Parts: sequence; C-alpha cells; structure tokens
Amino acid sequence: MLNLSQSQKSFLRACELIPGGVNSPARAFGAVGGNPIFIKHAEGAYLYDIDGNQYIDYVGSWGPMILGHGHPHVVSALQNAIFQGTSFGAPTLAENALAQMVVDAIPSVEMVRFVNSGTEATMSAIRLARGYTGRDMIVKFEGNYHGHADSLLVAAGSAGATLGVPNSPGVTQGTSKDTLVVPYNNPDALRKTFEQFGSKIAAIIFEPVVGNMGCVVPTLDFRNAIFEMRDRHGTIVICDEVMTGFRVAYSGAQSIFGLSPDLTTLGKIIGGGLPVGAYGGRREIMQHVLPAGKVFQAGTLSGNPLAMAAGIATLQALQSTDPYRYLDRLALQLAGGISQAAQKYGVPLCVNRFGSMMTFFFQGGPVSNWTTAAQSDTVRYANFFWGMAERGVYFPCSQFEALFISSAHSEDDIRRTIHAAEETFATLA
Ligand SMILES: *Cc1c(COP(=O)(O)O)cnc(C)c1O
Repeated sequence: MLNLSQSQKSFLRACELIPGGVNSPARAFGAVGGNPIFIKHAEGAYLYDIDGNQYIDYVGSWGPMILGHGHPHVVSALQNAIFQGTSFGAPTLAENALAQMVVDAIPSVEMVRFVNSGTEATMSAIRLARGYTGRDMIVKFEGNYHGHADSLLVAAGSAGATLGVPNSPGVTQGTSKDTLVVPYNNPDALRKTFEQFGSKIAAIIFEPVVGNMGCVVPTLDFRNAIFEMRDRHGTIVICDEVMTGFRVAYSGAQSIFGLSPDLTTLGKIIGGGLPVGAYGGRREIMQHVLPAGKVFQAGTLSGNPLAMAAGIATLQALQSTDPYRYLDRLALQLAGGISQAAQKYGVPLCVNRFGSMMTFFFQGGPVSNWTTAAQSDTVRYANFFWGMAERGVYFPCSQFEALFISSAHSEDDIRRTIHAAEETFATLA
C-alpha cells in the first residue's frame, strides 16, 4: 500500500488556505478520488513525493517537461540568468533570441509577442483577431481547451470536462453568446455554422491535435474545412499549439499537417518549465498589436529574463539532441504494450496517440470528438490510475488528459510501466 500520510496531512492544510487545496483544478484528484500527491522534487523522468515515494512521471507538468526534470542545460542557463537580475521591465537580448528561435521554427510565425501563460496567449490572439477583422464572434470546438479567458470557457475540455462544468459561473451570457461551439472533426457542422454566421466570425481557434479531452487527432477533411472557411469568409485561423508546439515536432503540429494558420499560440515547452506563453503569426496582423498598432496587450513580467533563459535553453537542447524519433519510438512501445496488456485481461481500451502524447480511453472506441470521449469508463480509469500509482507510475489524474513522454524516459521505464499496467489490469478484470 502506498504511504501518502504526509500528502494527506498537507492537503488538508492546503484546503484551509487555497480553494480546493490546489492552484489549478487539473491538480485536484476529484476525477480519480482520493487526495493529490504533494511533490518534493523531480529528476529526469522521476517524481519524488513528500512521503518519499518515487514515480515514473507521465504528466511532465502537463506538457512543458519534454526534456525531463532538471535538464542540466536548462538548469545552468537559469543559474547564469539569475545573477543578471530577475526582471527589469525593459527589453533584453534574451527576448530577441527566443523570438528569433520561434520565428525560425514556425514558418507561419513572422512576429511573436511573449506573455506569461497559454491563457494569456489565446486571450490576446482572440482580441487581436477581433480588432483586426472588426468582427465579434469566434468559433471553438467542443472539448478543446484554450485556457480560462471568459470567451473561451465554453464547452472547454480539460478540468472543465472532468468536472462537468461546461460554462463557469461568472462568464456572462453577453460574453458566451459570441462564442460558437462546434463538434470537433465535423466539417459539415462547421460549414453550417459559417453559412449562418460567416460574415460575423472573427476567428476559428482549434487544437491541431487535441490533448484536453484526451488525445484526439483531426481528420484531413476537418482540417481542410477550417482553412476553406478562412478563404471563403475572411476569418482568422488561430492554431492553438500551446501543447503541441515543440512537442509533436519541433515546428509543431502545423508542420506535420502542412497548415499555415494566420496566428499561432504557444506556451508550455517554450517556457522550459517557467511561466511563458506567446502568440504570433503574419506580420501584417501582428503589427496591429500595441504599440505598433492599436490592439492593447501588456504584461509587467512578460518576456521575463528567467523564463526566456529556460525557454532558449530548452529549444537549444531540442535542436541539438533532436529527440523526436526517440520519443516516438518509446511512445509506440508504451501504446503497444499497454494495448496488448489490456487485451490479455479483456479490458476494453482505445489508445489514441500522436507522437509522444497519448491517452488510454477505457472503452472500445474509436474516440474522435467530445461525445465519443465522454463514453469512457471513468470509474475504471480511476482504478487504473491508483493501481499505477501504487506501482510507482504517475499518470494524469483524469481520463480526459493526455500523458507525455520525455527524452529522459528510458526503454526500461517503459517496460516497467507496461509491467505495472499488466498487474493493474489483472486486478481490474
Ligand atoms: C495548457 C493549454 C492552454 C492554457 O495554458 P496555461 O498556461 O495553462 O494558461 C491553452 N491551450 C492549450 C491547447 C493548452 O494545452
């Protein structure tokens, strides 16, 4: 039995101090039961909790830690940066350097503005699209999560999906009426929406591979329909690569699918574990951002020197080690091994994978949108989650999140994880 007594005690204290005991609902264990595990430190592919338990980490801070924890190049970049000063409220060379790296990596991004989170990136991109087009409405897809800006908190996946709160109290009807929600992977529904509202729609925002209702891959027809609507109706396409950017490929999902969005949002990996987001795209559109243009967007700590240093070091390490083929191979092994184990014990399982992100949906599948994702057996997932935790494997604490592999994971880690899954499935069957 896993000893979590220190975590239990600390969580009770946290609940007195912090709403629900957590600073982000994705960390709460509501969907799997029990209380969150408090982490003390992490190294490479491993997490260590405050009771002294060790876990193979498949959460990776929900995406950023593609190099694993405490990568030496990132740590030494941070050590160097911290002595130069932690924030100046004035431009630095590090901002130029990371901007150059982002522009070089993603051809559709000609200019970029750094912010402090993915939420800020999507919120600002939406404002820019509205300011640029002079239109009010936006289209988002059911089960896609773009952070918690009011206009995007409609039928959002992630913690919202888990908690069954499609709309948060506090988001006004006035705000949500301008957000049109369309099912993912449904080109006909998208076309119908544009037939009705096309001339009023400022932007389509989408996850090019969904991670936030679990991993869901877009069909070719669906991707084409998004860009067809842009060409036909003058709508801005915002590709939300906060999760997929530098994850599924160095140049993001748009490089794999050959997409050329007007705007792209980034986060997670470009901060190397520090708080960073970014939005960028066509120069002609980005020139509308203040002070080049009139669309307001600002941030006291934006382009923060420590965050830039961690981001630059992370992208440098990704360039020099090019881990994507290795990540893909490990991910394939994990997906295949766990699939086989489930089959052996008669546990229905649908594995959706794209590169090093994947989800084990507890159902026969296929899972291609929110309606099908929601048919998963979440109770079984909860039992699986705890079975894995007891065997030293830390998986996402919700059926509707993607798991991530880092370049610090070894083949032996994958083998141990598959073995843990076999033992766990035996208890579920
Ligand atoms: C995580 C995520 C966000 C929000 O980023 P935060 O840094 O948590 O605000 C937005 N979009 C996508 C696709 C994400 O995965």
